[in-house]
Amino acid sequence: MNMARFAGIGMTSERTRARMVERLREQGIRDMMVLSAMAQVPRHAFVSEALAIRAYEDTALPIGFGQTISQPYSVARMIEVMRNGRELHRVLEVGGGCGYQAAVLSRLVREVYSIERIASLLGQARRTVRELRLSNVKLKHGDGQLGLPEMAPFDGIVLAAAASDVPQALLAQLADGGRMVLPKGVGEQQMLVMIERQGDVFSEQELEMVHFVPLLTGVA
Ligand code: SAH
Repeated sequence: MNMARFAGIGMTSERTRARMVERLREQGIRDMMVLSAMAQVPRHAFVSEALAIRAYEDTALPIGFGQTISQPYSVARMIEVMRNGRELHRVLEVGGGCGYQAAVLSRLVREVYSIERIASLLGQARRTVRELRLSNVKLKHGDGQLGLPEMAPFDGIVLAAAASDVPQALLAQLADGGRMVLPKGVGEQQMLVMIERQGDVFSEQELEMVHFVPLLTGVA
């Protein structure tokens, strides 16, 4: 790890992170594996030095290119719902951004694939993931709506950007018994939705209102 980048926050970050995890518990996150993963990943390493001091607040923060690092609660909630207490072997994330959620997933899942459409953001994410030595995270450049058919099926799929409609290609890449979690809707009004696959039947459940950046088409 490049210590210069994280200077000044190292010693305090573990304590503030423990407080963040305590808040997540109060907010209703129950899965101990998820809480433990959230406690392990240094969120401050995924934001600029100027914002590192705010890294353990429960808010989204800017990461450049008009994008944000997701709120800790959203990250924990989506993973908890997708996991459903199961052991996950292979998971796909759409909208990798700075790589934070992929890093949390890497503590819980054997193989994490994450697609990001903005090449420069992907470069930053690759650097951080490498510095933290998260060797089971594979970051890909592309339009995540198409998924990664060559790596399918996935035990779980999570979208970090809001879709107006469920991308059909992703449903086809979900393993039997698998769960996909995504924010659905446009503008401020979005609903976190969980879709579970049983054979060829997909059942959809609405969870709670959320706010994410929009899922866009193509690459940048
Ligand atoms: N997972 C990130 C959240 C990043 S914000 C975290 O842990 O904080 C959502 C990201 O989705 C943005 O970086 C945006 O560029 C990306 N995105 C939007 N539409 C996309 C698409 N079709 N394919 C891949 N990435 C997309």
